[in-house]
Amino acid sequence: MKSTMQANQLGLALLLRHACRVNGRSRIVSVTADGLRVEQTFADLAQRAGRLAHALDQRGFPTGTVVGTLAGASREHLEAYLGVPASGRILHTINVRLHADQQAYIAEHANDEVIMLDSQNLETFASFAHRLPKLRLVVTVGPRTPSAAPLMPCETIDYETLIADGVPRIDWPDIDENEAAIICFTGGTTGLPKGVAYSHRSIWLQAMSICTANSVGLSSNDCLLPAVPLYHVNGWGLPFAALMAGCDLILPGASMQPSALIALIKAEAPTIAAGVPTIWSDVLAEMRTRGMSGLGRLKSVSCGGAQVPQRLVDDYAALGIRMVQAWGMTETSSMSAIAQTPAWASSADDRRRCASAQGRVVCGLEVRVSDLDGATLPADGVAVGEIQIRGPWVTQSYLDVEERNHLQDGWLRTGDLGTVDADGFICLTDRLKDAIKSGGEWIPSLALENAIRTHPSVLDAAVIAVADERWQERPAAIVVLKPDETANASELRAHLLGRVAKWWIPERWAFIDAIPRTSVGKIDKKRIRQIAGASMAWTLDAPAACAAR
Ligand code: AMP
Repeated sequence: MKSTMQANQLGLALLLRHACRVNGRSRIVSVTADGLRVEQTFADLAQRAGRLAHALDQRGFPTGTVVGTLAGASREHLEAYLGVPASGRILHTINVRLHADQQAYIAEHANDEVIMLDSQNLETFASFAHRLPKLRLVVTVGPRTPSAAPLMPCETIDYETLIADGVPRIDWPDIDENEAAIICFTGGTTGLPKGVAYSHRSIWLQAMSICTANSVGLSSNDCLLPAVPLYHVNGWGLPFAALMAGCDLILPGASMQPSALIALIKAEAPTIAAGVPTIWSDVLAEMRTRGMSGLGRLKSVSCGGAQVPQRLVDDYAALGIRMVQAWGMTETSSMSAIAQTPAWASSADDRRRCASAQGRVVCGLEVRVSDLDGATLPADGVAVGEIQIRGPWVTQSYLDVEERNHLQDGWLRTGDLGTVDADGFICLTDRLKDAIKSGGEWIPSLALENAIRTHPSVLDAAVIAVADERWQERPAAIVVLKPDETANASELRAHLLGRVAKWWIPERWAFIDAIPRTSVGKIDKKRIRQIAGASMAWTLDAPAACAAR
């Protein structure tokens, strides 16, 4: 029997209407590129998002047009988050910290026709704009100096001028909830970035999940500070959850520096924050330098994207702030497991187990552990295997990628190794995928190895992750030089400058006679990690702090 329920679609226009009509008085505070504070209401957001959509209509950009962004966590970016998908177009957020070559690859593969960018990213963008065959319009946000306005292969217009042409749109089209709304690329598992397209429905469901108390738990009494770039998994879905809950939202702009975040926390008094461990350990260090003993009304921080050190959790607890670990991936729309402690965890042992886990899977998603032959292992908190996950906000494929190695019987293979226990807690022990997660962002080891091999003295190279107190992980390079060649770490670092993003360049280098390989000729990272732990003679060529965020 069919249900009697209405089949209204879960579209982002519906979310925007709710945000504007019911939560219209909630505030968004954002920081401009010049460090200025701008405040607007959710109702203002809806107006300006409507103007943006209308301006794109007027310029003839049809449904399905892909609008790329190279922008910080600004109000304009948020307006595009809503105005672009609610009007049936697709937003594509590009990581501003990638090297121009990777940004070009990503923008080309997503078929970006419009690019909206912060003015400070204009010059970098100009270096590859000609590589985008479909590009028709560039929209700049923030003041642009004439010298920083290089020639573009198409029309370039200032964002405020563009939306001044539009009238606020109220007649948002009906869109199938399974249509793509936002595209995000991940470089997590291979050298080449792969695109994940979130649907209106997946964004809705994930935002509802975030609002529940077992997850981040947001309400109209809260003020949320996501110290999360908007290009990273839709800002972990937090902006959408804030619009749903009607909580005030603070957008830190382009800078996530600890001093800027502390200033925002002092001025705007958020109750809940989020971000990767590096950001929150830097905030703590800055507080200590200044002799600060608290962060005002801040009561909890959802922290994830990388292993959250227990010491960080303890240090924040001493300030009266609950740091809650979260685990997720670009492919799972971010926060898929959250380490909230349930009431039954009354013993010290139980509490320790809950606190040390990556988190407990949220309702709507299912996880299992699988061995490398594909057999499901018991969820007993002991059997270690690959964590696999499925659910309505987990991707089933990558954009324009045929192979299906990432799936096993419809479950997404996460590439993370660990256990799942009978209460749904996930504990990670290692990673199958061959990449480095530094400060919450990926450094694909394959791409870095290839860049090192372009040096004329290098015969072979391998890159592994090594633990780092500040960045959680940093890349370390193991190099085999050609006979009679003498290149050293400084030379190889200099060679990488300009070839890869600066923060990818390893500080630790080791020179050996041959890279260990498996029987099928693949670099044996497991063996290299063993040797690295036991006997590798590293040259440290620059302090890890040089890995600029
Ligand atoms: P991304 O797609 O950039 O969000 O990266 C997702 C990956 O980051 C996961 O598959 C994990 O390898 C890693 N990750 C995310 N959260 C955590 C966490 N709490 N602890 C350890 N690793 C994490």
